[in-house]
Amino acid sequence: MYRIADVAVVDPRDGTVTPHQDVRIADGRIAGIGATDGPDGDPTTVDGQGRFVVPGFVDMHAHPLNLADPTHELDLMLAFGVTGYRQMSGAPGRARPAVDDRTPRLLATPCSVLTPLNAGKPDTAVAEVRRQAEAGADFIKAALITPEVYLAVQAEADRLGLPVVGHLPAGIDPLAASDAGFRSIEHIGPGLGVLSGCSCHEDHRPPAASPIKAPPFPIPFADKIAERLLRRIVVNPAQLTSPAALDSIRATIDGFDEDKARELARHFAANDTWNCPTLIRIKAQQFCDDPAFAADPDLRYTTAKERKTWTAAAAAFHRKFTEAQRAVFADQFAFQLRMVKILDEEGAPLLAGTDAVGAAWVVAGTSLHDEFDLLADAGLGPVRILRAATHDAARFLRREHEAGTVDVGKEADLVLLDADPTAAVANLHTVSAVVRAGRHHDTGALSALKERATGRRG
Ligand SMILES: [Zn+2]
Repeated sequence: MYRIADVAVVDPRDGTVTPHQDVRIADGRIAGIGATDGPDGDPTTVDGQGRFVVPGFVDMHAHPLNLADPTHELDLMLAFGVTGYRQMSGAPGRARPAVDDRTPRLLATPCSVLTPLNAGKPDTAVAEVRRQAEAGADFIKAALITPEVYLAVQAEADRLGLPVVGHLPAGIDPLAASDAGFRSIEHIGPGLGVLSGCSCHEDHRPPAASPIKAPPFPIPFADKIAERLLRRIVVNPAQLTSPAALDSIRATIDGFDEDKARELARHFAANDTWNCPTLIRIKAQQFCDDPAFAADPDLRYTTAKERKTWTAAAAAFHRKFTEAQRAVFADQFAFQLRMVKILDEEGAPLLAGTDAVGAAWVVAGTSLHDEFDLLADAGLGPVRILRAATHDAARFLRREHEAGTVDVGKEADLVLLDADPTAAVANLHTVSAVVRAGRHHDTGALSALKERATGRRG
């Protein structure tokens, strides 16, 4: 048992700040909260004076477990206040890592992402969903499947009690996906995705072929092949955008219809269809050659190999697209930001996620802070952003009884901030200590984690 003394407790639901509290921690849980007893001589007491305690941040779209050894990435996440994450890709039978009070909590993971390799047709897809349910998937992640396959997958997953999340199938009306039960839309699409349901422009061409093709017969190691292909595509999927697709993006955003957008957002709210926009991820894709990314000081936390891959991705992006085409991506981003604001205004639920590990320019840990800033750019206030990253993640995961607020009995996964997070989004960056399953990681410990990840050759 120890005490964080004289700290201000922040409620992420409404931004209430209760100053001068003692938060007692025991056995990995919050054991008590009450008016401070003031300082004592106990060396285990943490001085909370002038600091703010919030629930630990949750990165709801991350891929650290894609790495054979994610030690440094998990360290970085913890060091920047990420105490839990949703792993967004998996593999059959991949063992879950040992999770302890020195690593962020793995909150949910799928098995293999559904692609034409394992889910090319409705019957093979249904069999795959059953297999994944047996293998212990927490949810089904759709990526490059057709609307027809998706509907079969959703029906089977409903039967098995598993949520379906991920990428909206190309060519499906987002409203129809919401009605079918799609639980969380990632990357506002991706691609046109949600925006396609918010425009007077209707694209009647068949959607572009998936970059991963269904094999004509079942092949061994399909998962391994898909994983390798995805890993290559995943660095910057925008690179695959065709000139025709760019024309379609241009026409869709030119025909943006705010009434339609609001109606769709209200639909999401009514159906409990969540969005995890991963704005940092889509910005890094759509502005891949922006020199600001290459100059980002947070790159010091990445490996030499990652920096090389990302620099090459930026050069390829610059080579492939004309200035006019890059302007389409830039305009698309403006509408994606606008859409996030509309989603929020209409009560559609939102999550904070990054797509860290594998995605160009998206650095584990620090990227969640980039996401906070971009959500602010979209027009969300600091309390709203804090709520998305804490309480609402718990709500989505149906863990409100365990997490999401600083309350007695809940998991002691906490962040101590040096400045009031309800006053400005920048104050969410002032992480000075992290409590993970009750273990207190002070400023020095967090610096050591960052130091260890810095300047890796890898
Ligand atoms: Zn992802």
